[in-house]
Amino acid sequence: MGELVWLLLPIAATVGWLTARHNVFGQPSSSTSTLSADYFKGLKYLLNEEPDKAIDIFIRLIDVDSDTVETHLALGTLFRRRGEVNRAIRIHQNLTARTNLSIQQRYLALLELGLDFRRAGLLDRAESIFQQLTSSHEHRITAYQQLLDIYQQEHEWESAIETALQLESASHVKMHRVIAQYYCEQVELLRQHGQRDKALQAIQLALKIDNRCVRASLLEGQLALDIDDTALAIAAFKRVEQQDSDYLPEIIEPLQTCYRQLGQQQDFKEYLYHLLERYGGVAPTLLLVKSLREQGHEQQAVDFMVKQLHKYPSLSGLDQLLDLALLDTHHITHEHFLLLKDMTGQLMKNRPLYKCNYCGFKGKSLHWLCPSCRQWNTIKPLERITD
Ligand SMILES: [Zn+2]
Repeated sequence: MGELVWLLLPIAATVGWLTARHNVFGQPSSSTSTLSADYFKGLKYLLNEEPDKAIDIFIRLIDVDSDTVETHLALGTLFRRRGEVNRAIRIHQNLTARTNLSIQQRYLALLELGLDFRRAGLLDRAESIFQQLTSSHEHRITAYQQLLDIYQQEHEWESAIETALQLESASHVKMHRVIAQYYCEQVELLRQHGQRDKALQAIQLALKIDNRCVRASLLEGQLALDIDDTALAIAAFKRVEQQDSDYLPEIIEPLQTCYRQLGQQQDFKEYLYHLLERYGGVAPTLLLVKSLREQGHEQQAVDFMVKQLHKYPSLSGLDQLLDLALLDTHHITHEHFLLLKDMTGQLMKNRPLYKCNYCGFKGKSLHWLCPSCRQWNTIKPLERITD
């Protein structure tokens, strides 16, 4: 006997029970006999493993009233959980079509139907159901959350922003950091379509709602570079220092480009020393070492690198030190170092560069929405070997 039969047996029992009860309340005998005939037909379908036919009969037999709504809802949920979404939809649609439900029952059935549609990937239909549900006091927050998920999935950022604001005022949960990310998503699209003015406006909206939005600053810097506004780019990239210093490794290279364009390498070096003094970190060290080497101060570069490696052990730092040591082979053979260099290079190639502080997901590129736990703003650059 199929597994479905065990699911439907309790429903069959309910129908049997209702038929019996109707007898007690003196239903006309003809009606009772019709019910019984259908009931046995349903049972027969069930035993012949034709569950869909059985479901139709049982649904028809159980009059939807306040006593049996629960049974329908339970059966529908059960089907959805088992991945039999079409059956769940049939049951919940049958419920919502009834006119004798209380408002609460109707909303509950709608909620389940909305979840069915989402599960089936029918997002437009799910959306219209959850929109209806936003007028229910009881399910309003769930409805907004569902709508938000749908808009995010569909990349409908304007609707997502609007819904997040409604969710915030309904639930009093702060949504400003997420809303800023939605604006940033719009910025990326606008940038792709060459609509730079609109993109810059959206960046301002992101920063207005979350002045610590690092992504908005990085985007503003990139857009400013697109239009050769180096001063604006520098201001935007430097803002990251105040917003969240963990993201400083992201701004070092673009800032180097900016200062190079202006011919102000000395100012850049001073800024790197400032970052190093204040936050430590590997990225500024590497650039300063490189600059010392370019000026021919090999010994100074080695001393500086070794000192920084003691403070901030990092794979890329070690790699750089080996580069320096390869230039001076008094004590260790060249082959030795080549081997070591090869190893560190391999290690760096396979190493994740970013990590989610929420779920621990590690990856090679900077996602603002964690692909693993779907949280915003939780992924940060990794630097230390021990990270
Ligand atoms: Zn995560």
